[in-house]
Amino acid sequence: MVSLDSLSARQIVTGVSKGEFSATEVARAALDAISVRDGEVGAFLQVSGDLALAAAARVDAARRAGEEMPPLAGVPVAFKDNMNLLGTRTTCASRMLASYQSAYTATCVQRMLDAGATPLGKLNMDEFAFGSTTDSSAFHPTNNPWDTARVPGGSSGGSAAAVSAGELTLALGSDTGGSIRQPASLCGVVGLKPTYGMVSRYGVVAFGSSLDQVGPFGRRVEDVALAMNALVAGGRDPHDTTSQACEQDFLACLDEGCEGRAIGVIPALLEAEGLSDEVRAAMRQAEERLVGAGARIVEVELPNMASAIAAYYVLGPCEAFSNLARYDGVRFGYQEDGCATLAEQSALSRAHGFGAEAKRRQLLGAYLLSSEMYESYYLAAQKVRTLITADYQRAFAHVDALLMPTSPTVAWEHGAISDPAQLYLADIFTISSNIVGNCGISVPVCLGADSGLPIGAQLQGPAFADARLLALARALERSCGMEGLVAPAFAGRGGELG
Ligand code: GLN
Repeated sequence: MVSLDSLSARQIVTGVSKGEFSATEVARAALDAISVRDGEVGAFLQVSGDLALAAAARVDAARRAGEEMPPLAGVPVAFKDNMNLLGTRTTCASRMLASYQSAYTATCVQRMLDAGATPLGKLNMDEFAFGSTTDSSAFHPTNNPWDTARVPGGSSGGSAAAVSAGELTLALGSDTGGSIRQPASLCGVVGLKPTYGMVSRYGVVAFGSSLDQVGPFGRRVEDVALAMNALVAGGRDPHDTTSQACEQDFLACLDEGCEGRAIGVIPALLEAEGLSDEVRAAMRQAEERLVGAGARIVEVELPNMASAIAAYYVLGPCEAFSNLARYDGVRFGYQEDGCATLAEQSALSRAHGFGAEAKRRQLLGAYLLSSEMYESYYLAAQKVRTLITADYQRAFAHVDALLMPTSPTVAWEHGAISDPAQLYLADIFTISSNIVGNCGISVPVCLGADSGLPIGAQLQGPAFADARLLALARALERSCGMEGLVAPAFAGRGGELG
């Protein structure tokens, strides 16, 4: 009996193409894994069984008609619930959008469907993507498949957890300050934040428009590369003016290795406050593994990194304040009944529709953009952004990629961190990549020596060098032997083909 747990995306496509199994059998196996496993994980907000079976039936019919199989034929995928997919709700895990029906399909989702992938549904997240735990979902928390008492990370926690628990082969998430890479690290899977502008955001609910980027999760770098090929196929999306044409083939150079490549490390970062000993040790080990595979380690400095959190937590809330103004209880989302005036309706709809963190970000944004504060905060943060960008440019003149932790610690227990500022500090390693707009990936490198929980290493590359970044990530993955892992407590439970 073949289990979905053991199949890579490429093996699914090959199996479907050769008729070893049908896309419908794969879809049923994924639905079975979801029904057996997701009760304990809570990764899904909606399971779209009908859409999945209809898409799989189309692939099977095309095969019977002798047509060439598309590049993701039959591969199970689901989407963070800030991505529109016709026939599903797009809730952003918020009461505000609890009953919002997708009015169209986001380009990133459509491209996965055009590539023949099977859409299994919508995945849990922090409300409007504000957070690092998925605990701020208005509906339910998501549990880390490696230890269900712990958070999966966030904000794309549902995406990471579903892939980690073997409920899906691929998932899409979005990353504004680390929301793909951090949950990937905490759940022991691979997560890529492509370069800003690489993947269309049309149909993805906006958080910080100068920072947001969509990207894939998988249990192997190769699966993520396959998803990237689908996401950029068709070129620039005319509906997203920030998107750019990208001709890279992410599979072509995947096995190039890292022989002769220069990998930058930032010694000061490993002294960062809050970095756990086991994560520090994992980084040293990753460094050694890369050297063993032929890479050269070069020490570099990013002197303005220390200001990255302060800059991000000004820029992000300012942009969020502007983007979330549209939820005014009139056109979109939750509407308070029985109000005497439009102003009252708007105020109460916002007061009751948004959760605490979404309110905190918007109030902060409004305050920071006020005429009295603008210069000392927003303008200052923009200047810091320029300085950090210059730091990166200097570093990338000498190295092909930078190696650093993804998260300062392994996954923590639900509720263990209640101070928002403490959560913000944990974003230290991921946010600069969004500030700069480069590409970054988290790859599982080991289980923590103290906790036994997965630890991811992050590689960041220059803008639009995503294909090379994936090749380096593949070399790191190979040298660490953590490829294709399903969280042990869930492996082998349901999800069999045939
Ligand atoms: N943890 C970060 C935040 O809370 C990142 C969120 C994201 O990337 N969507 O803003």
